[in-house]
Amino acid sequence: MPDSTWLEDLARYINPGIARAYSFLGVLSPEVRAEGAFVYDADGERYVDMGGGYGVMVHGYLHPRIVARAKSQLDRLALPSRSLPVLEPIALAKRLAEITPGDLRYSFFCNSGAEANEAALKFARARTHRATFVSTHGAFHGKTFGALSVSGRDLYKDPFRPLLPDVRLVPYGDAAALEAAVDDEVAAVILEPIQGEGGVIVPPDGYLAAARRICDAHGAMLIFDEVQSGMGRTGRYFACEHDGVAPDILTVSKALGGGVMPIGACVSTPDAAQFLDEMPLIHTSTFGGGGGGGAPLATAVACEAIDVMIEEDFCGQALRKGAFLADGLRAIQREFPEVISDVRGRGLMLGLETAREGVGGMLMSELLHRHVLALWTLNNERVLRMIPPVVIPMEALEDVLRLVREAAAEVAAVAAEL
Ligand code: PLP
Repeated sequence: MPDSTWLEDLARYINPGIARAYSFLGVLSPEVRAEGAFVYDADGERYVDMGGGYGVMVHGYLHPRIVARAKSQLDRLALPSRSLPVLEPIALAKRLAEITPGDLRYSFFCNSGAEANEAALKFARARTHRATFVSTHGAFHGKTFGALSVSGRDLYKDPFRPLLPDVRLVPYGDAAALEAAVDDEVAAVILEPIQGEGGVIVPPDGYLAAARRICDAHGAMLIFDEVQSGMGRTGRYFACEHDGVAPDILTVSKALGGGVMPIGACVSTPDAAQFLDEMPLIHTSTFGGGGGGGAPLATAVACEAIDVMIEEDFCGQALRKGAFLADGLRAIQREFPEVISDVRGRGLMLGLETAREGVGGMLMSELLHRHVLALWTLNNERVLRMIPPVVIPMEALEDVLRLVREAAAEVAAVAAEL
């Protein structure tokens, strides 16, 4: 049995609320090791991670090729002098230009999704000399001031107001509402091609194309936040490719670091990034980039992550495994409609909507007791996410479906007595 003073120390030194949540859920053994789609606690118990490390683990934990690349890079150069140019970020930028849609080309590197979106918002302002942003209800773009300002849930925003003043929020997926909100004062429209934290919402066909047309009509930049939906998870390198629409600025993070390094990128078209020519140091960061910088270790690892994604056919795997998982979850939904009311998503980015408030928490807790880690969504409490590593074995998905069925049956029985 591991020493449990960690829980007191977590409460005392990091976050008492989170410590209470672990206690309440009965999570009393910390995670100490992970491999592929599985994590192991200090008692040696194995869990299947259907939340994929909050969407980071498309490649799974400690993919051998990515770990090897990290180790070899560590033996040479981890962080740069920032006085001489380094090659790894340049190679990654070139690689991103190859795999992103449309004319996206200039990369700014950073360490998180929120920072990538901060860069995107600033670039849009610099390009257009306008202040206003249009975003959507339920959107999640991160928790730094700018990213939070264009996010769609007041709970996370209210304690920090005033945020950026000129933000217009419209319902997600509603092209007419978007059209009404965009005028010649708008610097950018920022959208997730599939909303993640909003509850895994796939927009109606034609929505992203309409956003493209509306932005073009008003000279506004179109930003796609692919922090969660990018890197093969939905069956395309980037989810916007399902709709054949390319943005002016695309942000990516989470799985870009191959599950080994934190990294984010803001990739812009030459048109969107034209101000860099005259103001090369306008947006920089010590560990990230700008001005030719970027951490050699993180960017080398990200190059390997892209190669693995392509060579191991992550898109094909996500589509095949996603269809299997979605079919199985829909069969469980038909059996227990009082627990699960909808299963939706693309590839291995799936959301499971529960029939009413409170059921999501019960289902998650039943899954946890069966060693299945599912993920809630920050902006929609009724939806659990299933966003496992693309490398998850089919047998593990079969087990998960059996355990979700068991958990749903348990929740149905408890709910019937309430
Ligand atoms: N954008 C999207 C779509 C996300 O899902 C997230 C995180 O979940 C972010 C941005 C913020 O990323 P980070 O937590 O790395 O700042």
